Amino acid sequence: MTRFAILSDIHGNLESLQRALALVDPDDSVLCLGDTVGYGPNPNECVRIVRERATNAVLGNHDLAALDNYGVEYFNDLAKAAITWTQGVLDEENRTWLNGLAYELRFPEFLLVHGAPVNYFEYILDKRSATKAFDNTDAAITFIGHTHIAEYWEREPDGTINHKHMQHGGELILSPANRYIIDVGSVGQPRDLNPQASFAFYEPERKRVEWVRYDYPIDEVQHKMHEVHLPDYLALRLEAGR
Ligand code: ZN
Repeated sequence: MTRFAILSDIHGNLESLQRALALVDPDDSVLCLGDTVGYGPNPNECVRIVRERATNAVLGNHDLAALDNYGVEYFNDLAKAAITWTQGVLDEENRTWLNGLAYELRFPEFLLVHGAPVNYFEYILDKRSATKAFDNTDAAITFIGHTHIAEYWEREPDGTINHKHMQHGGELILSPANRYIIDVGSVGQPRDLNPQASFAFYEPERKRVEWVRYDYPIDEVQHKMHEVHLPDYLALRLEAGR
């Protein structure tokens, strides 16, 4: 039976990526929703692992900013400092690989984008933006990251939007009548007040999505960030999950 492991917003957090992949079976297909770099201390190591392990990946806004400074004017000072650092260390092979990624990948029954369909780097944060996103695609299921918040949006045939946070993990059985936007949360920098990292499994045959929240050695990542002089706040926010 096919199972997908869907990871997003790894952000150079090698310790968390390794823990996530330890929870993934060798037979699982790994999908990556972008922002593999930015913020964290191990961008090259993370890109290398994703290149090897993921069957498909899309581009995130931090990946793009690391490549050509795109969108950096919208970044806050700390994100900017981290991107400048990342630009300085990202090796040529990894740059080339990131540069070749698509903004969206459509499978017969689902869509992969970093933030939202069509407007790839828009944030889906409320029912209005969710409605717009559903209007912009006919995919039954859209998998996203970008917000660093594990949650889902469900649209019923009459247009009603339902929403639920998956802050502590859990499962969702998809109803064939409804469409879904599934935010898998963040491997590298969760922001839903749970410092445990997040990713999701999707089992098409069982119509089942499971959000996994897991621990990783935050202090080791913070130590590395300190050593390479990434901003203190970016290290501190990992333990706060925000
Ligand atoms: Zn991100």
